[in-house]
Amino acid sequence: MTKEIPVTYVPARNSIFLSLAASLAETQGAEAIYFGANALDYSGYPDCRPEFIEAFEEMMRRGTKVGVTKGSRAIVVRTPLLRLSKAEIVRLGLQLGVPFESTWSCYEGKEIPCGECDSCILRAKGFREAGVEDPLEKSSLRAKKGDRSLLNQSEKRPVPFFASATLGTPPRNDGKRYA
Ligand SMILES: [Zn+2]
Repeated sequence: MTKEIPVTYVPARNSIFLSLAASLAETQGAEAIYFGANALDYSGYPDCRPEFIEAFEEMMRRGTKVGVTKGSRAIVVRTPLLRLSKAEIVRLGLQLGVPFESTWSCYEGKEIPCGECDSCILRAKGFREAGVEDPLEKSSLRAKKGDRSLLNQSEKRPVPFFASATLGTPPRNDGKRYA
């Protein structure tokens, strides 16, 4: 892989998430972990690549009780978005009724998406190539003009999407200040 690792790389982030999921899966007797990684546009992240996922499955085969007692592939990692383009992910989300207005991609942690970070740019590219308007962009534009009605409709801040979850909790946008 010759691509550079993006500056938005978070050290060992997906190893941490998958380790927590593996512990829960083994405790619950689950046979699969579903992981929203995408390697097509984000292949610069080493922990979104197919070889990382295969290695993690191998780790579970060797390093968990269920792995060593039940044999190979006791817990598998399923990655339905891994090889889809952003446009294909948007189309799939529309088919499934994903509330895109309640999803979040931005890395900046502000009240509205910055529209400039890699994640915002890739999200915009996905919607543009899918030929649909991003409902979050519409509400953000209105918020920038001072109309906060759309952003204030929900108590909740939009949640991360496109495998861009972060370890922090995004700031709330209900107008109150939190320590
Ligand atoms: Zn952004």
